[in-house]
Amino acid sequence: MIGIGAQHMLSGDHAMPDRTTTLGRLEEVVSTVEDFDRVVLQALPILLDRAAGYTKRFLRETGQWSDDVAHEKFVLRWGAEYLEQFLVSGRSEVPCRPLFLLDSIVAKQHSRPEPFCYHSDLLTPLGRFLDGLVGRAAISRDALIALYHHCYGLGPGQIITVLGLNGSESPRIYKNFQRWRDSGWKRTIEDMGITETELHGLNEQQHRQRQRFNGEAERILRFAQAHYRKSEPDHYPCLSRHQWEDMFQQGYGIEYRIWHLALCLDCLHTAWDVGFGGASAIEKPRVTLQMQP
Ligand SMILES: [Zn+2]
Repeated sequence: MIGIGAQHMLSGDHAMPDRTTTLGRLEEVVSTVEDFDRVVLQALPILLDRAAGYTKRFLRETGQWSDDVAHEKFVLRWGAEYLEQFLVSGRSEVPCRPLFLLDSIVAKQHSRPEPFCYHSDLLTPLGRFLDGLVGRAAISRDALIALYHHCYGLGPGQIITVLGLNGSESPRIYKNFQRWRDSGWKRTIEDMGITETELHGLNEQQHRQRQRFNGEAERILRFAQAHYRKSEPDHYPCLSRHQWEDMFQQGYGIEYRIWHLALCLDCLHTAWDVGFGGASAIEKPRVTLQMQP
């Protein structure tokens, strides 16, 4: 998968020398793959704006839009999804006019029966449960912290240790847990439309075939994490081992750690490695899904 770096996710005109010229170039035919790459890479913020703008219009026209953070994040995330598809398929469409190719990819997606389903496995109870949880985490701090519990079975003290949080952050984590248990979890389950029977069914499946169930959960969790990271341009890119090491040793990037590590299993493993080097009382986090808060 092609990742769109944070600098490209942050849409806006300031990075573009001349928007009109760039748009003009995107409307012209590119006849080689090299040309496609060059023209498109210079224009990623404009293309992201365009894809997100179409998505917003689609939601407005179908009566699904509200002016709030959740919807703004939604269109940013889907704009990034479409842009990734465009980057992958565009090279094989050369010769083409890049701007119109993007338009046609977006229009095609919006005319599908399930336009905003980023993976077919999300239609099962397990998929809906995971998608609902991770989706909620994109707009609720309580849900974000609760992901560490639901996905890996970590308690508040373990989260504080694994993320290397400082004294002032610790009480917040306990409060996040408390509110989630008191009301957040119940409300989220209701919003997902997951029934008691379905939850019970998931518990049963896990009980019967623990390893297989958690393996399946990990597979779906990875899609969900990758999708929802796209609404967090500020906390989006995966860092190198060296960068994590530096962050943990020097003690900066608290927000980055909290956000990115909740939404990226691979980086969570790296962070655990650099934090403990395998010599800790806390086991390396593994996907062991917890249905209850
Ligand atoms: Zn990562």
